[in-house]
Amino acid sequence: MNRNKGKLIVLTGPSGVGKGTLLQSLLDRHPELYFSISVTTRLPRMGEIEGKNYYFVDQPRFQQMIANHELLEWAEYAGNYYGTPRKPVEERISQGCWVILEIEVAGARQIAQTFPEALRIFILPPSVEILEQRIRNRALDAEAAIEKRLLHAEKEIIAAQEFDVQIVNDDFAETLEKIEAQIFAPVMMVGT
Ligand code: 5GP
Repeated sequence: MNRNKGKLIVLTGPSGVGKGTLLQSLLDRHPELYFSISVTTRLPRMGEIEGKNYYFVDQPRFQQMIANHELLEWAEYAGNYYGTPRKPVEERISQGCWVILEIEVAGARQIAQTFPEALRIFILPPSVEILEQRIRNRALDAEAAIEKRLLHAEKEIIAAQEFDVQIVNDDFAETLEKIEAQIFAPVMMVGT
């Protein structure tokens, strides 16, 4: 299998669609994929670890990172800022690694400009109603934050067609297989 060439993979879609769980399974099954740890001004949730889930920073530090062009993309989401540190991603790609970002839609749009060769995968919920249920059942956030996420999610779903691939996350195992097919199929074809 030829994996000498670096590659950028973007997993996007609305909050609550299951991107995080899908990403975790992908990383477990393919340890060669390098997950880009984002920077955020959001406070850590219970169990989240600095440098594993996110780098947690304050707003002035985030603004400074924007000003210094330290972020490959960034966005404001539900009252907080999120961004991808540029250097580790560029370094890994130049070393031939396959780097994966799990980001919201506005950031994924920016990647189309800065990294047009990236593979951008959009995960869709089976329906808006199911997405709402999932966001509420997670109960990770206060009601006001949930409302913001829901409003945002509806706008994000409309953007799905802008991306290279759209996959509906109905059955988890099937969704995972479809993502893997997108990421690995071209390489497998070259090898056969
Ligand atoms: P959460 O607060 O639930 O961890 O994340 C909220 C949203 O921000 C999710 O849709 C997640 O994919 C997105 N996100 C996480 N990191 C980044 C990032 O570096 N850039 C952008 N644009 N979005 C991100």
